[in-house]
Amino acid sequence: MLIVQKYGGTSVGTLERIDSVAQRVKAKKDEGNALVVVVSAMSGETNKLIEFAEHFSKNPNAREMDMLLSAGERVTSSLLAIALIELGCPAIAFSGRQAGMLTDNFHTKAKIEHIDPKPMQDALKEGKVVVVAGFQGINEFGDVTTLGRGGSDLSAVAIAGALNADVCEIYTDVDGVYTTDPRIEPKAKKLDKISYDEMLELASLGAKVLQNRSVELAKKLNINLVTKSSFNNNEGTLITGEKKMEGAIISGIALDKNQARVTVRNVDDKPGVAAKIFKELSDKEINVDMIIQNVGHDGNANLGFTVPQNELHKALDALKDLGDNFSVESDSDIVKVSIVGIGMKSHSGIASLAFSTLAKEGINIQMISTSEIRISVIVEAKYGELAVRVLHDAYELYK
Ligand code: ADP
Ligand code: ASP
Ligand code: MG
Repeated sequence: MLIVQKYGGTSVGTLERIDSVAQRVKAKKDEGNALVVVVSAMSGETNKLIEFAEHFSKNPNAREMDMLLSAGERVTSSLLAIALIELGCPAIAFSGRQAGMLTDNFHTKAKIEHIDPKPMQDALKEGKVVVVAGFQGINEFGDVTTLGRGGSDLSAVAIAGALNADVCEIYTDVDGVYTTDPRIEPKAKKLDKISYDEMLELASLGAKVLQNRSVELAKKLNINLVTKSSFNNNEGTLITGEKKMEGAIISGIALDKNQARVTVRNVDDKPGVAAKIFKELSDKEINVDMIIQNVGHDGNANLGFTVPQNELHKALDALKDLGDNFSVESDSDIVKVSIVGIGMKSHSGIASLAFSTLAKEGINIQMISTSEIRISVIVEAKYGELAVRVLHDAYELYK
């Protein structure tokens, strides 16, 4: 079998952990498999490098940021290759460039455009384990790019696609995908299987166990994606194209702490105004999420929306650039709680149970948005984890 494995930050967080990963990899190789192993930086390393950069600049140059951030993964990939060779297992470490990973030019959130599989295939033919530094590639100018936070998951899935691997295994510090973050709700249940669509919603709504773009790509390429723990040998969670025909209505609850709310007051209540505001934001690559517009008075309306917290400054600057005479307020002290399930499509009363459950706890809902398979609410940050737990109970997800 050709297996692509990815080990996240905690799985390679110490030298002992890297040693234990090397032993796991060698054992798989000794069973006769071909392996490509994608690694993250040691846990906390990427955040540390960001803090270093922020010591010098509030808005560090994006190209230089990528040079800096890609270093974390370079360290773990070479250390793992050294450890493997020492165990008598032939191995070679590749940077993103050496692994043939070509991206577009959007530094710090680049998209993969193409992977040249030849260097990896050649090394595999020589019987080597290929260890790839995740989260990075190069652009057409030969500059290093990175793929956005959590991007090593995406590297692994893309490589699995390019090499036509039999399976892509994502190793992390929990046993798989749970009904909600097991660190928030210890009663959360591990799922044996989850559909690409539900996983994509959960990941996009804050469940960082898988990066959302990696799930999107796995769905597109129909890749066998499995999430497992690198700390034990328990069965993980299979992310699959199979749709559940029956069973749970709700598959999980996600909490997104990286949200901020922007309110724009006194916008002209006439056609084209929202278009102008949101075009400005999208031109600046700001991801706008929930949007509400209040009924206007005297030709004016209020517009509210959410953006990722780390894009708030950029959003406020963009609105300033518009130079209109509306007033802008923002609030970072909020979180988004989302309930996800394909079964929602065919069941009523799902939303009202969420609202009454939150009301019983005295948790005020600031914004609501729904789709066929999810309900999201914005609440005050201090209630986020409580909201997750009471909703998990209300939908009996522990069962
Ligand atoms: P890695 O460093 O391996 O990429 P991450 O920290 O990015 O790991 O993702 C794993 C973490 O995701 C877990 O430790 C857990 O706290 C969190 N998590 C959030 N939602 C879920 C969920 N529904 N199921 C499992 N883990 C979740
Ligand atoms: N090291 C990067 C991050 O912390 C990428 C990853 O871990 O997937 O975001
Ligand atoms: Mg991760």
